[in-house]
Amino acid sequence: MSVLIYTDSSNGALTKNAYEAANYGGQLAKAAGTEAIAVVAGSASGLEALGNYGISKVMHVSDAGLDNFDPQKIAHVVASAASETGADTIVFAHDYTGKSVAPRLSAKLDAGLVTGAIALPNGNVVKKAVFSGKAFAEIEIVTPTKIISVLPNSLDKVETGGSAEVVAFSVELPSTGITVKEIKKESTELSLTEADMVVSAGRGLKGPENWGMIEELAKELGAATACSRPVADIGWRPHHEHVGQTGIAIRPNLYIAAGISGAIQHLAGVNGSKVIVVINTDPEAPFFKAADYGIVGDAFEVVPKMIEAIKKLKA
Ligand SMILES: Cc1cc2nc3c(=O)[nH]c(=O)nc-3n(C[C@H](O)[C@H](O)[C@H](O)COP(=O)(O)OP(=O)(O)OC[C@H]3O[C@@H](n4cnc5c(N)ncnc54)[C@H](O)[C@@H]3O)c2cc1C
Repeated sequence: MSVLIYTDSSNGALTKNAYEAANYGGQLAKAAGTEAIAVVAGSASGLEALGNYGISKVMHVSDAGLDNFDPQKIAHVVASAASETGADTIVFAHDYTGKSVAPRLSAKLDAGLVTGAIALPNGNVVKKAVFSGKAFAEIEIVTPTKIISVLPNSLDKVETGGSAEVVAFSVELPSTGITVKEIKKESTELSLTEADMVVSAGRGLKGPENWGMIEELAKELGAATACSRPVADIGWRPHHEHVGQTGIAIRPNLYIAAGISGAIQHLAGVNGSKVIVVINTDPEAPFFKAADYGIVGDAFEVVPKMIEAIKKLKA
């Protein structure tokens, strides 16, 4: 019995979410007195670093056929690794890859799945947030094999030190009936789901020509940019920046929202952020109720002052 963790890679390197999944699986294995083994699909290097999160061994399927994301092939790879290791718990990050691979694997292995876990399981019981973060559910997995996907930024990292043994693992890839020929990234900017900090703006900014200061603040902080849905709908910003119930759900350490009212559908995608800073001219804006720090003021005055202050601090 062991814990198997799927650790995703992008452009040849492990993703931030991969380390978080490893951290979760490593802590889970330690609590259960068993071994944590990672599986990696496609070209990737630096895999020994997973040892710092309690992973003892990394099974690397370096087949180039896995470089272009195909969830059916990855599900096959993870199922093969689970069979090889006899793993009874399989961990994914609850990101794009986890969302598309974990359910397939669940059907393939007849294994119970809980998506978006926010804490280590208590026995077979896994806790997750439901109803857009308004409540928690504790779900018991009753199948012999359990699959858990862990919500990004939900567990503190515990660094164990050490280096993982990396072994080549060979899997005959099935024909899935599709060939992913090319993946074009929407943007080369920092990925929203992986960003530690996000600067976001809404209709209060009046027009797309005013986003320069949002981009500058994000650049100074090393943050990604996001927006409310109407802003993306009217074409002021690209759709991949839209966060919320119908957009991307994010959980950065810092979320700065300028000129966003804080409608429930927006909050649904950002209320897992560790620290929320709201800038709004309306003291009654609902977003202030969810804010850790609120600034009642005009974004056109406040944001340039923040940029200036950060520049001074950095100098
Ligand atoms: C089914 C459904 C799904 C939805 N999904 C999403 C979603 O995923 N994401 C999402 O964002 N929305 C979503 N919405 C829309 C949501 O209900 C709100 O309409 C939307 O979030 C409002 O966007 P906003 O805050 O940018 O604009 P507004 O509601 O127009 O708010 C603008 C805010 O800016 C403030 N402001 C104005 N001028 C300034 C200034 N100079 N400085 C500072 N503040 C200023 C105002 O006081 C106001 O609070 C959804 C709606 C529905 C019905």
